[in-house]
Amino acid sequence: MQQQFELTTSPSKILFGDGAIKQTANIVKELGCARALILSTPQQEDLAKQLQDDIGKLAAGIFTNATMHTPLNVTEDALTKFNDLNADVTIAVGGGSTTGLGKALALRTGRPQIVIPTTYAGSEVTPILGQTEMGVKTTVKDAKILPDVVIYDPLLTHGLPKSMTVTSALNALAHAAEALYAKDRNPISTLMAKEGVKALIEALPVIKQDPHNSQGRQGALYGAWLCGSVLGSVGMSLHHKLCHTLGGTFDLPHADTHAILLPHVLAFNEVAVPGLLKPICDVLKASSAGVGLYEYSKSISAPLALKDIGMPESGIGRAAELAVANPYWNPRDFDKRQIQKIIENAFHGVTPEGQNG
Ligand code: NAD
Repeated sequence: MQQQFELTTSPSKILFGDGAIKQTANIVKELGCARALILSTPQQEDLAKQLQDDIGKLAAGIFTNATMHTPLNVTEDALTKFNDLNADVTIAVGGGSTTGLGKALALRTGRPQIVIPTTYAGSEVTPILGQTEMGVKTTVKDAKILPDVVIYDPLLTHGLPKSMTVTSALNALAHAAEALYAKDRNPISTLMAKEGVKALIEALPVIKQDPHNSQGRQGALYGAWLCGSVLGSVGMSLHHKLCHTLGGTFDLPHADTHAILLPHVLAFNEVAVPGLLKPICDVLKASSAGVGLYEYSKSISAPLALKDIGMPESGIGRAAELAVANPYWNPRDFDKRQIQKIIENAFHGVTPEGQNG
């Protein structure tokens, strides 16, 4: 039991269950709205149109150009459409990119937003928005950014491709893993993180066998919700910092970078906080969270090496330098040599080193 803590609970309403998307019209009305702008990526336009048909007159229109990293020009186009249609609420249906657009509009309009997630990114339960302007990414945190209602319908995730299922879920797992040792953790964030880790680790092998297994898909989305919630409520450490540095510097795919680095950072940090990472060992039935997670990742065919996702070997030293340039809190102190070793091991995809210097 922690002796002292601070906890801010999020006001979002969560609906969870197979077929929950059918509740969308009721939710729009419950929010006192009548003209919804439905948002999606071009790849998920069919889903947006289906939703438009389902909610009938409550749909004012659709905007299907949501783009990764929320570029400002796309947000401006969507905002023009929102105003032209006299819309009063957004419904973002898709992954983190579509959720990002919904958040960007809510920030600018002050109108309510509904999110219907179809990946495990977890953005729908955080008050955080990353946006890009001319390639430069900035992050805003504001209560207006937190969606009002999230509708989790596991049926919408059955078609998520296997490779994306694995990396998206490991990306979610990373939020919970770092929440377990967060400096500002509290008893509730720890409970949610433990439950999120368990739900995701148990679900992935089931989905690997059968991507349409209902229990597997429900478990993974449930875990993703819990992991996203802790991302929104406590601070992240070395793992997230390294992923942002590597992703931003070498334009690496977001979820894959998380999936590859996590075992290495956990192996490094667990030397300092073995007790806090024990819940991960317990679920994996392993003596090391880092090595256990590496073996688990192999078993579900997750990507293991940064060299396989576009990282140049010549960039390892520069990445280590950038990662140590801004000091930030981590449960274990580190220096450039240690960070370089972590990145080298992740680059080659070798078994994580527990002691690591
Ligand atoms: P994404 O939203 O970019 O989706 C990738 C592709 O998969 C898109 O084409 C999408 O349409 C498609 N897709 C989504 N769900 C699908 C499904 N069920 N079936 C088939 N195709 C599907 O990917 P993502 O990983 O969900 O989101 C990544 C973005 O989210 C990044 O920009 C990241 O920075 C952001 N993010 C933000 C936060 C936050 O708190 N602000 C948290 C996590 C992620």
